[in-house]
Amino acid sequence: MASGKTHDWMTLALLPSVWLLCRWQFNLPMEESILIIAGTFIGGFFLSPDLDIRSRPFYRWGFLRFIWWPYQWAIRHRSSLSHGIFWASWLRLLYLTGVLTLLYCLGSLWLQQRGWLPPTHPLQEAREFLHAHLHELLWLGIGLWIGALIHILLDWLSSAFHSKKRRR
Ligand SMILES: [Zn+2]
Repeated sequence: MASGKTHDWMTLALLPSVWLLCRWQFNLPMEESILIIAGTFIGGFFLSPDLDIRSRPFYRWGFLRFIWWPYQWAIRHRSSLSHGIFWASWLRLLYLTGVLTLLYCLGSLWLQQRGWLPPTHPLQEAREFLHAHLHELLWLGIGLWIGALIHILLDWLSSAFHSKKRRR
């Protein structure tokens, strides 16, 4: 398995190629290309498949890293739920959205009970926010998926390389 540092460098090294693909291969508009590039970076540095262990991306979450404890508890390292090609990064995005919505609602209700916020419906607000930004989330998600793909391919390559070395 490649080290966290190698994963970071590979993500950075491939960002220009991802940008060129977006702009010149797929002729995507500027906004969507920026979202994809941002997603690729976040997918490599913060929403990496290695969130299933105490990895560099996990520690980058700082005091918010508790968000990933249930994820690590539920998902085995390098299982298809974290390192699968098609759905794993969408699952992480869904998980994060769910947890952030929950935290927002709980925080908002707590502040309302103390009278520090006027009464509102936080869940409905969160739903409206997500609905209004669905387009951006989708393009960001494609970027996250590319960032995870870079990670997974590097894991595969490094496993293949090491098993070949061991067989010699
Ligand atoms: Zn990995």
